[in-house]
Amino acid sequence: MSRGERDKRILFFFVDGLGIGPADGDVNPLLVARLPHLESLVGSIDMARWREGVHGERATLVPLDATLGVPGLPQSATGQTALFTGVNAAKLIGRHKEARPNRLLKSVLYKHGLIPVLCRAGMKATFANAYTTTSIPRYVAGEAPMSCTSAMAYYGEGCFRDTAMFNRGQAVYFDLTGRYARRRGDDATLMTPARAGEALARIALAHDFTLYEYFLTDFAGHRQNMGRAVRYLEDVDAALGAVLNYYDLERYLLILTSDHGNVEDLSTRSHTKNPVPLLVAGPGHEAFASRCDDLMDVAPATFKYFGVDPVKYSGQPIRTELIKLPE
Ligand SMILES: [Zn+2]
Repeated sequence: MSRGERDKRILFFFVDGLGIGPADGDVNPLLVARLPHLESLVGSIDMARWREGVHGERATLVPLDATLGVPGLPQSATGQTALFTGVNAAKLIGRHKEARPNRLLKSVLYKHGLIPVLCRAGMKATFANAYTTTSIPRYVAGEAPMSCTSAMAYYGEGCFRDTAMFNRGQAVYFDLTGRYARRRGDDATLMTPARAGEALARIALAHDFTLYEYFLTDFAGHRQNMGRAVRYLEDVDAALGAVLNYYDLERYLLILTSDHGNVEDLSTRSHTKNPVPLLVAGPGHEAFASRCDDLMDVAPATFKYFGVDPVKYSGQPIRTELIKLPE
Protein backbone atom coordinates (compact mmCIF):
# COMPACT_ATOMS: atom_id res chain seq x y z
CA MET A 1 0.00 0.00 0.00
CA SER A 2 1.51 3.33 -0.95
CA ARG A 3 1.25 6.24 1.41
CA GLY A 4 -0.78 9.16 0.18
CA GLU A 5 -3.03 6.74 -1.67
CA ARG A 6 -5.15 6.63 1.46
CA ASP A 7 -5.41 9.38 3.99
CA LYS A 8 -5.58 7.35 7.17
CA ARG A 9 -3.92 7.79 10.51
CA ILE A 10 -4.40 6.49 14.02
CA LEU A 11 -3.25 8.01 17.27
CA PHE A 12 -3.48 5.27 19.89
CA PHE A 13 -3.48 6.75 23.39
CA PHE A 14 -2.92 3.85 25.75
CA VAL A 15 -3.77 4.47 29.41
CA ASP A 16 -2.62 1.67 31.72
CA GLY A 17 -5.04 0.38 34.38
CA LEU A 18 -8.19 2.30 33.48
CA GLY A 19 -11.48 0.44 33.79
CA ILE A 20 -15.15 1.29 33.96
CA GLY A 21 -15.73 1.33 37.70
CA PRO A 22 -18.36 1.70 40.39
CA ALA A 23 -20.61 4.78 40.40
CA ASP A 24 -19.07 5.86 43.69
CA GLY A 25 -16.94 8.98 43.98
CA ASP A 26 -15.41 7.73 47.23
CA VAL A 27 -13.49 5.06 45.35
CA ASN A 28 -13.68 6.05 41.67
CA PRO A 29 -11.49 9.05 40.76
CA LEU A 30 -13.10 9.28 37.31
CA LEU A 31 -16.13 10.71 39.09
CA VAL A 32 -14.03 13.23 41.02
CA ALA A 33 -11.57 14.46 38.38
CA ARG A 34 -12.43 17.34 36.07
CA LEU A 35 -12.32 15.83 32.58
CA PRO A 36 -13.83 18.44 30.23
CA HIS A 37 -12.13 17.18 27.07
CA LEU A 38 -13.19 13.59 27.59
CA GLU A 39 -16.69 14.90 28.30
CA SER A 40 -16.62 16.87 25.05
CA LEU A 41 -16.28 13.54 23.24
CA VAL A 42 -18.54 11.20 25.22
CA GLY A 43 -20.80 13.43 27.26
CA SER A 44 -21.02 12.86 30.99
CA ILE A 45 -18.59 10.61 32.85
CA ASP A 46 -21.33 8.16 33.76
CA MET A 47 -20.20 4.61 34.50
CA ALA A 48 -23.64 3.08 33.80
CA ARG A 49 -23.70 4.75 30.36
CA TRP A 50 -20.16 3.61 29.65
CA ARG A 51 -21.07 0.01 30.47
CA GLU A 52 -23.93 0.26 27.98
CA GLY A 53 -21.81 1.99 25.34
CA VAL A 54 -21.97 5.64 24.28
CA HIS A 55 -22.75 6.32 20.64
CA GLY A 56 -22.14 10.02 20.08
CA GLU A 57 -21.71 12.29 17.10
CA ARG A 58 -17.97 12.77 17.56
CA ALA A 59 -17.02 9.51 19.26
CA THR A 60 -18.07 6.04 20.30
CA LEU A 61 -17.19 4.47 23.65
CA VAL A 62 -17.70 0.74 24.14
CA PRO A 63 -16.75 -1.49 27.09
CA LEU A 64 -14.10 -4.13 26.37
CA ASP A 65 -13.89 -7.36 28.32
CA ALA A 66 -10.33 -7.47 29.67
CA THR A 67 -10.45 -10.86 31.43
CA LEU A 68 -9.30 -12.86 28.37
CA GLY A 69 -11.50 -15.74 29.53
CA VAL A 70 -8.84 -16.89 32.00
CA PRO A 71 -9.43 -17.09 35.78
CA GLY A 72 -7.65 -14.58 38.00
CA LEU A 73 -7.05 -10.87 37.75
CA PRO A 74 -5.98 -9.43 34.39
CA GLN A 75 -2.35 -8.29 34.21
CA SER A 76 -0.25 -6.02 32.02
CA ALA A 77 2.02 -8.36 30.04
CA THR A 78 -0.81 -10.61 28.84
CA GLY A 79 -3.40 -7.81 28.57
CA GLN A 80 -1.13 -5.56 26.54
CA THR A 81 0.03 -8.38 24.30
CA ALA A 82 -3.63 -9.21 23.61
CA LEU A 83 -4.48 -5.56 23.00
CA PHE A 84 -1.54 -4.87 20.68
CA THR A 85 -1.55 -8.18 18.76
CA GLY A 86 -5.07 -9.64 18.82
CA VAL A 87 -3.65 -12.89 20.26
CA ASN A 88 -5.11 -14.19 23.52
CA ALA A 89 -1.83 -14.11 25.41
CA ALA A 90 -3.31 -15.35 28.71
CA LYS A 91 -4.77 -18.47 27.05
CA LEU A 92 -1.46 -18.99 25.25
CA ILE A 93 0.58 -19.18 28.47
CA GLY A 94 -2.26 -20.46 30.65
CA ARG A 95 -2.36 -17.51 33.05
CA HIS A 96 -2.38 -13.75 33.38
CA LYS A 97 1.21 -12.48 33.47
CA GLU A 98 2.07 -9.25 35.27
CA ALA A 99 4.47 -6.50 34.18
CA ARG A 100 6.75 -7.44 31.29
CA PRO A 101 6.38 -10.03 28.53
CA ASN A 102 8.30 -13.30 28.73
CA ARG A 103 10.12 -14.80 25.74
CA LEU A 104 6.99 -16.34 24.24
CA LEU A 105 4.94 -13.15 24.58
CA LYS A 106 7.79 -11.15 23.05
CA SER A 107 7.77 -13.45 20.05
CA VAL A 108 4.01 -12.85 19.73
CA LEU A 109 4.63 -9.09 19.89
CA TYR A 110 7.36 -9.42 17.29
CA LYS A 111 5.22 -11.43 14.88
CA HIS A 112 1.81 -9.86 15.37
CA GLY A 113 2.36 -6.53 17.18
CA LEU A 114 0.80 -3.41 15.72
CA ILE A 115 4.05 -1.48 15.29
CA PRO A 116 6.20 -4.33 13.86
CA VAL A 117 3.49 -5.49 11.44
CA LEU A 118 2.66 -1.98 10.20
CA CYS A 119 6.39 -1.18 9.79
CA ARG A 120 6.88 -4.37 7.76
CA ALA A 121 3.88 -3.36 5.65
CA GLY A 122 5.83 -0.23 4.70
CA MET A 123 3.93 2.15 6.92
CA LYS A 124 5.25 4.74 9.34
CA ALA A 125 4.32 3.28 12.71
CA THR A 126 5.94 4.63 15.84
CA PHE A 127 6.06 4.56 19.61
CA ALA A 128 6.00 8.19 20.75
CA ASN A 129 7.36 7.63 24.26
CA ALA A 130 10.71 9.04 25.31
CA TYR A 131 13.35 6.97 27.12
CA THR A 132 16.04 8.17 29.50
CA THR A 133 19.66 8.32 28.39
CA THR A 134 20.72 5.48 30.68
CA SER A 135 17.79 3.17 29.85
CA ILE A 136 18.26 2.94 26.07
CA PRO A 137 21.67 1.17 26.01
CA ARG A 138 20.44 -1.20 28.73
CA TYR A 139 17.45 -2.21 26.61
CA VAL A 140 19.59 -2.64 23.53
CA ALA A 141 22.12 -4.74 25.44
CA GLY A 142 19.32 -6.89 26.86
CA GLU A 143 20.22 -5.83 30.42
CA ALA A 144 16.82 -4.33 31.22
CA PRO A 145 13.58 -6.23 30.54
CA MET A 146 11.43 -4.51 27.95
CA SER A 147 7.75 -3.71 28.38
CA CYS A 148 5.29 -4.78 25.67
CA THR A 149 5.38 -1.30 24.14
CA SER A 150 9.20 -1.08 24.22
CA ALA A 151 9.48 -4.50 22.61
CA MET A 152 7.11 -3.43 19.82
CA ALA A 153 9.05 -0.21 19.24
CA TYR A 154 12.32 -2.10 19.07
CA TYR A 155 11.01 -4.87 16.81
CA GLY A 156 9.27 -2.37 14.54
CA GLU A 157 11.29 0.81 14.35
CA GLY A 158 14.53 -0.59 15.77
CA CYS A 159 15.05 2.49 17.89
CA PHE A 160 13.82 4.54 20.84
CA ARG A 161 13.06 8.23 21.23
CA ASP A 162 15.24 9.96 23.80
CA THR A 163 15.32 13.02 26.04
CA ALA A 164 16.86 15.22 23.34
CA MET A 165 13.85 14.42 21.15
CA PHE A 166 11.52 15.09 24.07
CA ASN A 167 13.09 18.53 24.46
CA ARG A 168 12.45 19.21 20.77
CA GLY A 169 8.81 18.11 21.05
CA GLN A 170 9.51 14.88 19.13
CA ALA A 171 8.81 12.47 21.99
CA VAL A 172 6.55 12.31 25.03
CA TYR A 173 7.45 10.95 28.46
CA PHE A 174 5.15 8.43 30.14
CA ASP A 175 4.41 11.07 32.80
CA LEU A 176 3.77 13.66 30.07
CA THR A 177 5.85 16.26 31.95
CA GLY A 178 9.45 14.96 31.90
CA ARG A 179 9.72 15.06 35.71
CA TYR A 180 10.75 11.41 35.92
CA ALA A 181 13.56 11.94 33.41
CA ARG A 182 14.92 14.86 35.43
CA ARG A 183 14.95 12.69 38.54
CA ARG A 184 16.96 10.16 36.54
CA GLY A 185 19.54 12.86 35.78
CA ASP A 186 18.45 13.75 32.24
CA ASP A 187 18.37 17.38 31.18
CA ALA A 188 14.67 17.22 30.29
CA THR A 189 12.78 20.49 29.89
CA LEU A 190 9.65 20.22 32.01
CA MET A 191 6.47 20.64 30.03
CA THR A 192 2.80 20.83 30.84
CA PRO A 193 0.56 17.89 29.95
CA ALA A 194 -1.11 20.15 27.38
CA ARG A 195 2.23 20.93 25.71
CA ALA A 196 3.02 17.20 25.70
CA GLY A 197 -0.36 16.52 24.09
CA GLU A 198 0.46 19.03 21.37
CA ALA A 199 3.77 17.27 20.73
CA LEU A 200 1.95 13.94 20.58
CA ALA A 201 -0.54 15.28 18.05
CA ARG A 202 2.31 16.56 15.85
CA ILE A 203 4.10 13.21 15.99
CA ALA A 204 0.81 11.51 15.05
CA LEU A 205 0.33 13.83 12.08
CA ALA A 206 3.75 12.77 10.76
CA HIS A 207 3.05 9.03 11.03
CA ASP A 208 0.43 6.54 9.92
CA PHE A 209 0.19 4.94 13.35
CA THR A 210 1.37 6.43 16.63
CA LEU A 211 1.20 4.71 19.99
CA TYR A 212 1.63 6.55 23.28
CA GLU A 213 1.62 4.89 26.69
CA TYR A 214 0.64 6.61 29.94
CA PHE A 215 0.93 4.39 33.00
CA LEU A 216 0.78 6.53 36.13
CA THR A 217 -2.93 5.70 36.34
CA ASP A 218 -2.02 2.08 37.10
CA PHE A 219 0.56 3.28 39.62
CA ALA A 220 -2.02 5.45 41.46
CA GLY A 221 -4.42 2.51 41.49
CA HIS A 222 -1.88 0.24 43.19
CA ARG A 223 -1.20 2.97 45.74
CA GLN A 224 -4.95 3.55 46.27
CA ASN A 225 -4.11 7.25 46.16
CA MET A 226 -7.18 9.34 45.29
CA GLY A 227 -5.31 12.65 45.08
CA ARG A 228 -2.75 11.32 42.62
CA ALA A 229 -5.33 9.38 40.67
CA VAL A 230 -7.37 12.54 40.15
CA ARG A 231 -4.30 14.55 39.15
CA TYR A 232 -3.11 11.90 36.69
CA LEU A 233 -6.55 11.62 35.08
CA GLU A 234 -6.68 15.40 34.77
CA ASP A 235 -3.19 15.36 33.19
CA VAL A 236 -4.41 12.80 30.64
CA ASP A 237 -7.45 14.98 29.97
CA ALA A 238 -5.27 18.07 29.46
CA ALA A 239 -3.13 16.14 26.97
CA LEU A 240 -6.31 14.91 25.29
CA GLY A 241 -7.50 18.52 25.01
CA ALA A 242 -4.33 19.48 23.14
CA VAL A 243 -4.72 16.43 20.91
CA LEU A 244 -8.25 17.57 20.06
CA ASN A 245 -6.81 21.00 19.14
CA TYR A 246 -3.81 19.97 17.10
CA TYR A 247 -4.70 16.55 15.65
CA ASP A 248 -7.26 16.48 12.85
CA LEU A 249 -10.30 14.46 13.98
CA GLU A 250 -12.14 15.45 10.80
CA ARG A 251 -9.75 13.16 8.93
CA TYR A 252 -7.99 10.84 11.36
CA LEU A 253 -8.80 8.38 14.11
CA LEU A 254 -8.03 8.70 17.79
CA ILE A 255 -8.22 5.64 20.03
CA LEU A 256 -7.98 5.70 23.80
CA THR A 257 -8.12 2.46 25.72
CA SER A 258 -6.52 0.35 28.44
CA ASP A 259 -5.28 -3.15 29.26
CA HIS A 260 -7.19 -3.84 32.49
CA GLY A 261 -9.03 -2.08 35.29
CA ASN A 262 -7.32 -0.65 38.35
CA VAL A 263 -7.53 3.09 39.05
CA GLU A 264 -11.33 3.20 38.64
CA ASP A 265 -11.76 1.33 41.94
CA LEU A 266 -9.46 2.50 44.72
CA SER A 267 -11.15 0.23 47.28
CA THR A 268 -8.61 -2.41 46.16
CA ARG A 269 -4.89 -2.14 45.52
CA SER A 270 -4.98 -4.79 42.81
CA HIS A 271 -6.22 -4.80 39.25
CA THR A 272 -9.94 -5.35 38.68
CA LYS A 273 -12.04 -7.49 36.37
CA ASN A 274 -13.96 -4.43 35.22
CA PRO A 275 -14.32 -3.83 31.49
CA VAL A 276 -12.05 -1.14 30.04
CA PRO A 277 -13.37 1.71 27.94
CA LEU A 278 -12.53 1.79 24.24
CA LEU A 279 -12.97 5.36 23.04
CA VAL A 280 -12.82 5.89 19.28
CA ALA A 281 -13.13 9.36 17.71
CA GLY A 282 -12.81 10.51 14.12
CA PRO A 283 -14.26 9.32 10.81
CA GLY A 284 -15.76 5.84 11.04
CA HIS A 285 -15.57 5.75 14.84
CA GLU A 286 -18.83 3.78 15.09
CA ALA A 287 -17.71 1.15 12.60
CA PHE A 288 -14.33 0.70 14.31
CA ALA A 289 -15.83 0.45 17.79
CA SER A 290 -18.60 -1.90 16.65
CA ARG A 291 -15.94 -4.52 15.80
CA CYS A 292 -14.64 -4.53 19.36
CA ASP A 293 -15.99 -6.48 22.35
CA ASP A 294 -12.79 -7.50 24.08
CA LEU A 295 -9.08 -6.69 24.17
CA MET A 296 -8.25 -9.03 21.29
CA ASP A 297 -10.48 -7.13 18.87
CA VAL A 298 -8.59 -3.83 18.77
CA ALA A 299 -5.47 -4.86 16.82
CA PRO A 300 -7.48 -6.67 14.08
CA ALA A 301 -9.78 -3.62 13.77
CA THR A 302 -6.68 -1.45 13.38
CA PHE A 303 -5.20 -3.69 10.66
CA LYS A 304 -8.57 -3.70 8.90
CA TYR A 305 -8.77 0.12 9.06
CA PHE A 306 -5.39 0.33 7.31
CA GLY A 307 -6.20 -2.48 4.88
CA VAL A 308 -3.16 -4.45 6.07
CA ASP A 309 -3.22 -8.26 6.21
CA PRO A 310 -1.24 -9.01 9.40
CA VAL A 311 -0.53 -12.62 8.37
CA LYS A 312 1.30 -11.41 5.29
CA TYR A 313 3.65 -9.27 7.40
CA SER A 314 4.32 -11.57 10.35
CA GLY A 315 7.44 -13.41 9.19
CA GLN A 316 10.44 -11.22 8.35
CA PRO A 317 13.70 -11.53 10.28
CA ILE A 318 14.06 -9.57 13.46
CA ARG A 319 15.94 -6.28 13.43
CA THR A 320 18.85 -6.20 15.84
CA GLU A 321 20.87 -3.04 15.33
CA LEU A 322 19.79 0.33 16.66
CA ILE A 323 18.97 2.83 13.97
CA LYS A 324 18.58 6.57 14.28
CA LEU A 325 15.12 8.05 14.00
CA PRO A 326 14.67 10.58 11.22
CA GLU A 327 14.61 14.15 12.57
ZN1 LIG B 1 -0.69 -2.75 37.52
